[in-house]
Amino acid sequence: MWKVWVIALVLSSCGGIERSQNQKIKQSNETKELIYRTSTEKLYPNLELKTQVRDPYPWELGFVGLHPKITKEAFRCRGDAKHLPKKKEEAQGQLVHDCGGGLKHSLPIAGGKEYVYPILLDLLNYVQMKTSLPVVITCGHRCPAHNSYADDSIYNLSSKHMIGGEVDFYVSGMEQKPQEVIDLIMKYYAEKETYKGSREYTQFHRLENVKVNVSTPPWHNKEILIKLYKKDEGRDFDNQHSFPYVSLQVRFDREKNEKVTYSWEKAFHGYMRY
Ligand SMILES: [Zn+2]
Repeated sequence: MWKVWVIALVLSSCGGIERSQNQKIKQSNETKELIYRTSTEKLYPNLELKTQVRDPYPWELGFVGLHPKITKEAFRCRGDAKHLPKKKEEAQGQLVHDCGGGLKHSLPIAGGKEYVYPILLDLLNYVQMKTSLPVVITCGHRCPAHNSYADDSIYNLSSKHMIGGEVDFYVSGMEQKPQEVIDLIMKYYAEKETYKGSREYTQFHRLENVKVNVSTPPWHNKEILIKLYKKDEGRDFDNQHSFPYVSLQVRFDREKNEKVTYSWEKAFHGYMRY
C-alpha cells in the first residue's frame, strides 16, 4: 500500500515542477506595451435600445360576430411539397412542381411587413359579421410556383393572388347563395361612412364584352372586382369543392391612390423564401 502512495507523491510532485517551469518560461517571454486611447474613445458605444412591438396573435384579435376575426394569416399559400408533380397542359411532358407551402415562404411583403390588401380583410369580416356564419377562404396568397401548379390557364398567369390582392371564398351555411354574399359586399360600400357620397365606390357596374373565365359578368366599382364562379366554373387545385364561390380582386389602392396591377417583379420578388 505504501508503494502506491510513494508513486502518487512522485507523480504529483513532477506535475508541480512542470507547471512552475512553464510559468517561468511564460514570464521570461512576456512583453508589455501601453494602450493609448483618447479621452472620448469608447470601447463599446452604447446602442440605443428600441422597443419592438410584436404583432398580435390571431386569438388576441378577438371575434367578429361568432367567429374569429379574419386576419392575413388566413391568406397563407396552400401549396405543399408533398403534392405530386403535375403535367403542364400546353407543354408536353413538362412537369410543374408545387411550392413548399406557406411555412416555407412568407406572404407578400410591403413596407417591410407581410401584407395583404386590407380591404379584402375588411370585406370578409363584414360578411362574417352580417351573416354570423364563417367565411371559408379557399385561396388567398398564391406564390408563383403554387399559382402555376394550381391553375395554369391563361386567365391565371397574371393573377393578383400572387400579390395579396385577390381572394376566393364561400360562406359556410350559405354555399348555394353566393348572390346574397355579393349583395352584402355591395352593401358594405353603401353603409360605410368612408364611402358616403362617393359614387365611384357605392355604384357597381358590370364588366360586359370582356373575355373572362366566368359566365356571369363580374361586378366592379373603383376599388374591387367581384367574380361569381358557378359550381362548374373555376375548379382549380385550391377550389376543388362542389360549391359556387366568390372571388374578390383589388383594383385600386386607396391608401396609395394608385391602380393595383400585377407585375412579375411584385409577384416573384415580393415575398421571402426561407
Ligand atoms: Zn407557395
